[in-house]
Parts: sequence; structure tokens; C-alpha cells
Amino acid sequence: MNRGKARLAIRAALKGAMLTLALAAGAGPVLSAAPSKADRELEERLRAHIQVLASDEFEGREPGTEGEAKTLRYLGKEWFNIGLVSGTNDPGHEWFAPVTLIAREPAGYAAQFLVKGRRFAVAKDQVLVLTSGKRSLVREAPLLFVGKASSPEFTRNELAGRVAVLLDGVAPEDSPEVSARQNQLLAQGASAVLTVLDGQRSLEQVSARRQRTGYALSQETLGGDLEAFITRDAMAALMKGTGRTLADLSNAATQPGFVPVPLDLSVTLEATTQETTIRTHNLIGKLPGRRPESGAVLLLAHWDHFGICAEPPAEDLICNGAIDNASGVAALTEVARRLARGPQMDRDVYFLATTAEELGLIGAHAFAENPPLPPDQIVAAFNIDSVAIAPRGSPFAIVGRGMTPLDTQIAEVARAERMTLVPGSEANEFVKRQDGWALLQHDIPAVMVTTAYGKIDRMRAFFDGDYHRPSDDLSHPLELGGAADDVRMLTALTRRFADARRVPAKTK
Ligand SMILES: [Zn+2]
Repeated sequence: MNRGKARLAIRAALKGAMLTLALAAGAGPVLSAAPSKADRELEERLRAHIQVLASDEFEGREPGTEGEAKTLRYLGKEWFNIGLVSGTNDPGHEWFAPVTLIAREPAGYAAQFLVKGRRFAVAKDQVLVLTSGKRSLVREAPLLFVGKASSPEFTRNELAGRVAVLLDGVAPEDSPEVSARQNQLLAQGASAVLTVLDGQRSLEQVSARRQRTGYALSQETLGGDLEAFITRDAMAALMKGTGRTLADLSNAATQPGFVPVPLDLSVTLEATTQETTIRTHNLIGKLPGRRPESGAVLLLAHWDHFGICAEPPAEDLICNGAIDNASGVAALTEVARRLARGPQMDRDVYFLATTAEELGLIGAHAFAENPPLPPDQIVAAFNIDSVAIAPRGSPFAIVGRGMTPLDTQIAEVARAERMTLVPGSEANEFVKRQDGWALLQHDIPAVMVTTAYGKIDRMRAFFDGDYHRPSDDLSHPLELGGAADDVRMLTALTRRFADARRVPAKTK
């Protein structure tokens, strides 16, 4: 008997008074269609993992902390006991593949203006200089007023060696547009961009946004762009000595045919950042196949979360990440258990618990850049993220539908498993917010196949609620019905894609 249909039947039967009636009559089908012992056991296993991983003792699983050590020790032991072997394919680093992160935050800056060759003091609270690199400097660069530069047509010569003076003049919510204009000016040869905050943004707001630390893989090249911001009043005062006024120039900038205006001003700008190195790890396990030369299937879930994320007097300081993503690594672990118990597959199956997803999918990028096998041998990758959302019997969505060659086979497996797949690509709205996206950038076909996005409003409610807050914890009951369905589906999907006869290797 197929469980999927039975579940639907019981759902209908349980509505309203039917429940009492059916139970009173001792109706066989209703009772026999209740979650089986195996179903309940699977949910209990998932719950047990989540209760450990999202406990306060694990301190929110922040990369580079004791919380990481506890998380990796727990998962490594579970995976070893299940029967996986190390999947790093690196005898020097079994199981744990090192990932080195660099965290950068602004450390200091200076701006010195020269008006017609004479120094002009601008108070430190009127100007701000930022860099994406370790230390960036431009010395005595002439200023070129470019207005809003909304449709800039500059020659490289015009901008080269100069600092472009750009009018902000837009609401804070439009600031991505400003950064696009800044980047364009830099790409066209400007040494730096000095943005005049003549709109709604204050210097404090710009500064507050940038105090947040930026993260990168240690081997990534450091950007060295210089961005400076100055208040409107300070800019107006600076220009007094040049024979022009900011008001006149701002006006001129709105007229058709406006051309950039060189100012009788130059500036020395310097900004530095402080760097912290964080040593963290991806955990990689493997279930060896009979025919490893035929390729591999990859299953992944991020283990990391935000650690201590609030400050006193708040009572709950830990972002435990019960749903995000203790639920995902729990599901990953239970898929591993099921696959390890079954017959050996053709292909190797890799299990990857990534680090630093929350810092920008960094662990997944690190895996793809330094993979334990040639990436083109990965036939399919399935990411598992925040799956404790939907109840038992919910429909599945493919996050990344239409972006890989996997969809047809996924639909076949869903049919065979009597699982419902929602049509359409609505869930793709979230495709960039998960580790699969990092793999797609490296041409690894990666999707999420999950009940969590089957009804997108449920996921939205989570995003609007406990998501990335201390309340994503064990203080309320976990919905694990859909997560258990995800485990069954992912187990079937992995068996299908690990079958070299049914799914031929990629042709190059
Ligand atoms: Zn998250």
C-alpha cells in the first residue's frame, strides 16, 4: 500500500467530526494509516540531532569557536558510526577540510583636502573613507565634479587619477543604485569616489552599515577600492575657496548636456581595515560506490549559524539555528544512515556539511574551489537547508528548477515515491540564498528538493519570524513531518542519481 495516498486519506478523514466518528467506529484504514513506527522513529532521530546541535551548549555553531568544535565532533562521530569514510581524499586532513576565512572591519581613515594648494580642515565627523582592501591610499588627487553620473559617458582620461565627486541625492532605500554608480566610476578609471550626502542618508547611517564585518576566503584577492563620503555642508564649505558653489553645480548637473567640472581642489584619502583570520572546516564524508569512475552524487547542508548574536539586556543571546540549519544537517545524517543500510550504489556519494554559509556561502565556495574530486564528475548535488517547516504529506518544490539537467529525473523519482511536486519556479526566488547557488557558479548541477518550499507562504512566515533570530531555537515544538518526507525523497533521489545505468554520466 502506498503511504502517500494513505496520508492524504487520513488527512481528509481527520477533518472535523469525522475524527471522533472514525475512532469511535474503530475504522481500520484510519488507524493503520497513522504514521508508522518507522516514520515516528525517523522523526525522533531528526529531533534528537536537532536537540543536540541547537542546544545552548553548542553556542549557535559559529565558525572558529568552541561551538564549531562541538558540532564537528558530534557530526563526525555520527557519520563514522553510520559507516561513512572520510571524503576529503586528502590523507593530511581526514574528514575535516580546512577553510580559512578573513574577516575585515574598518580600522581607520584620513582625508586631507587642499583648496588651491592650501590645506583645508574638514572635521572628522563630516567625512568618512572606506576600503574593501587592507589599506588603500590616493595622494593629492584632483577632484572632478560628476553630478549624479546617472548616465555617465566619460573617457578614461577624464577620470583617470581623479577623485569623482558624486551627488548622492537619493533615498536610503535607493542606495544600491548609488553603489552601482560608484562602481561604474571606478571601472571607468576614477581613483576614488567622494559621495556628497545631499540626500536623505546621513554619514552615521553610511558608517553604521559598514561597521558590519565582511568575510572572504583567505586566498581571494583583496579589493582596494576607496569610497569616501562627505556631508553636504562640509562640501559646500570646501568649495567656497574655489569660486564655485555646490548649489550652482548641483543645479547645472540636472541640466541636459551637463559635462563634468574639474574643481580647484585635491584630496589625499586613506583607509585601513583590520583583518582577523578564522580557521574553520567543512566536514566531508563518503559512501564508496562500486564504480567510482562513473562519478558521484553530492548531498550537503550547512552546519554553521550565527553564534552569540544578541547583547544584554536581551535574555536570549544565542542564535541556536534549530531550523536553520540544525534541521538540514540532521536530515543529511539520516539520509546517510538510510543509504548506508541499503545495497551498495554504483557511484560514490559525498556528504558535505559546509561552514560559513551564513557569511556568504563561503564553505560551499571553498569546497568547489578545492574539491575532493573533479567537479565535473558530480552528476547531481542536493542541498538541504531549513527543512523543519512543513507537515507530513506536504508537496515538494525544486529550488533551482530549470537551472540544471536534473528536473526530469527528479519528477520521475517523485512519481515513483508518490510524492507531489509543485509545478512552476516560484521557489527559485530563493535560489541565491543557499549553498547550491555557490555550486551552480562552479557548474555543479545543484538543487534543493524539499517540502519546505512546497508552500512558499510557510517559508515566508519563517523568514518573517524566527529566521536568524535567537528564537529559532528549541523553545517551541519542531515540525518534522516534512523533514522526514525530505529524508525519504532525498534517499530515493540519491539512489536514482547514483545508478550509473539509469543516469549516465555527464557528457562533456
Ligand atoms: Zn541562515
